[in-house]
Amino acid sequence: MSKKRIYEIARELGVSSKELIDKLEELGMPGLKAANSVDDEESSLIVHLYEEGQADKDQTPTETESPIKPSTKPAAPATRKASASTAKPRGSTRPPIVSVLGHIDHGKTTLLDAIRKSHLAAKEAGGITQGIAAYQAQLHGQKITFIDTPGHKAFTGMRARGAQVTDIAILVVAADDGVMAQTVEAIDHIKAAGVPIIVAINKIDKSNADVGRVINDLAQHGLLPEAWGGDTISVEVSALQGTNIDELLEMILLVAEMGDLQADPKNPVEAAIIESHLVVGQGPVATVVVRDGTLRVKDWAVAGVAQGRIKALLDGAGNRVEEALPGDAVSILGFCDLPEVGTQIEIVKNQGQAKKLVQQYQRDKLPQAAPRARTLDDLFSTKEEAAKLKVILKAETTGGLEAARREIASLHVEGVELDILVSGVGDISESDIVLASTVTEECLAVGFGVGADPKVLKLAEREGIPVLLYDIIYHLVDEIESALKRQLGPSYEERAMGSLEVRNLFKAPSGTIAGCYVTEGRVERRAKIRVIRNNAEVFSGDIASLRRFEDDVREVQSGRECGVRIRDFNDVQVGDRLQAFVLEEVER
Ligand code: GDP
Repeated sequence: MSKKRIYEIARELGVSSKELIDKLEELGMPGLKAANSVDDEESSLIVHLYEEGQADKDQTPTETESPIKPSTKPAAPATRKASASTAKPRGSTRPPIVSVLGHIDHGKTTLLDAIRKSHLAAKEAGGITQGIAAYQAQLHGQKITFIDTPGHKAFTGMRARGAQVTDIAILVVAADDGVMAQTVEAIDHIKAAGVPIIVAINKIDKSNADVGRVINDLAQHGLLPEAWGGDTISVEVSALQGTNIDELLEMILLVAEMGDLQADPKNPVEAAIIESHLVVGQGPVATVVVRDGTLRVKDWAVAGVAQGRIKALLDGAGNRVEEALPGDAVSILGFCDLPEVGTQIEIVKNQGQAKKLVQQYQRDKLPQAAPRARTLDDLFSTKEEAAKLKVILKAETTGGLEAARREIASLHVEGVELDILVSGVGDISESDIVLASTVTEECLAVGFGVGADPKVLKLAEREGIPVLLYDIIYHLVDEIESALKRQLGPSYEERAMGSLEVRNLFKAPSGTIAGCYVTEGRVERRAKIRVIRNNAEVFSGDIASLRRFEDDVREVQSGRECGVRIRDFNDVQVGDRLQAFVLEEVER
């Protein structure tokens, strides 16, 4: 008995999968997914139900004619059966941008080659592949942009510089080898990026292929296949023999359709550099993928510290093109310097603006000052967001890893959330550091019984990621606990110092000076001041100046008069009460 997927039936009916699924749900068949397979009988039933539903709808009076709108009737589908395939608003949906990840030798390159050979959208110039780092494939007239730099280093490296280039990640797992270390790493990286995954179970042509084991392994890592009630789409392929490549592309289009990728050529350009190199005689050549807007020849482009006027745009086949639209991948000629991979392109009006932007990037690239000390405003801020600490955990053995995970999970510091971003067996690697650098929260790379290459340490230093290596588990746990506490920052307690009454006001060029009488305690120049009016606080801040007669003084005792100017506050009034206090750091 032959099987059909829901999306195939949708295509035969000339509607989108989403439209068909929505309709079937309305007709009492909920929970279907586009990738679900059904047998012939079910397929005929679905077609029948759908067509009957449509016929009913066509006979239903229009809203203006019907006085009562049935509550079960959903909004009419945007497209009708007969014209659906052509009426789709193509202009606003852009091709999905896809990256391929997975363990070494599992067939990433072979898969990308197989797709390129069988489904290339553009005509190759004289059969020569231009070596551009992306290409567009095509299925049923719909395009898919593949980033042709497999591996999670490229994927995460782009993210580290702020570019979320990919819409969908293909995770390649060889059926004869199963889920391996880099497969797990790739899963972590994809999850961290929040990108949908499609699993390509590759090498099914091999006699020792064991698809069941791969599915089992994937489930262990949180990728539950559809067959088991999960929502991980997987396709069994042979990249070498070209088996099921169409099916894989179908799935990509399907996931893209669900993701509803919108773009408008009229929007500002959103494009990221995915590769760049120097070509003798041509200068810097950079490959970009356009997510939104239109890139045009003669535009002034800035990418990080590189800028230039676009001299030429080349498509994947090496043809000169005048413009690149959303989803397109093109090479740019015209940059004065080599743009860094992962930087976003900005289009500006002229060379002056381009240079200005570059200067700004250069300034931003200077080493950052130490983190800003917490200010009084921060301390008084009422919205206390939970601090977060992320950890990348590596251990020598799976047993060691489990033990470390358990110990770390048992740590609790109130007000701080701890999250193990990635864990695995092996040394702390470059890709761990790159991943750590993509998160906005503080992230530690922690190793238990493992090391890190000097190159990795250097990268970590550059990215500001602390690498902590321990052989004794309790030292590791203690250090993480201290790091958690550090996230809370120091704790302060307020100590009252004195009270003042505002009796006069003097206007000075520097601001309003409150003529005060110290009624209680004392006031010091370093004190903080809280202004109380009608029993309510109206301001709190620092003392800008403290004077007795004409002299600046360090403190004034009770029973004396003084002049106080409050920083950034000139609205002080006669009758206000000022509370002087200090904040003292206390141990948590
Ligand atoms: P990558 O490191 O993931 O890019 O893997 P490659 O694409 O370089 O493939 C590694 C090896 O596996 C090569 O020798 C390929 O010919 C082989 N290979 C890739 N896909 C398949 C497949 O579907 N079937 C078989 N039998 N071999 C494959």
